Amino acid sequence: MHSDLIGKIEKARRYAEEPERITINEFKATFSGGNSEHKLVLKDGRWSCDCSFFANWETCAHVMAMQKLLNPMLSEEARHSESTIAAPSDSVAV
Ligand SMILES: [Zn+2]
Repeated sequence: MHSDLIGKIEKARRYAEEPERITINEFKATFSGGNSEHKLVLKDGRWSCDCSFFANWETCAHVMAMQKLLNPMLSEEARHSESTIAAPSDSVAV
């Protein structure tokens, strides 16, 4: 009677090794930073964070850490929203 469930557990184990099957569309998290907690949100491929760095740069250490962790499960857009500061060598405008 449990054979169906056992099959699903085995399938889940295989799926868990293929995170690229999954695309996270919406996501909310609380990030415990060095001094305080930050609220992170991913919605429609766009990240937001309530830290002051994000307000100026549209990315921050918290978002970049999440992008690193969730990379295979993010849409192209969500994966690359750090592009504004990803290349410090060529566009150091500020
Ligand atoms: Zn942040």
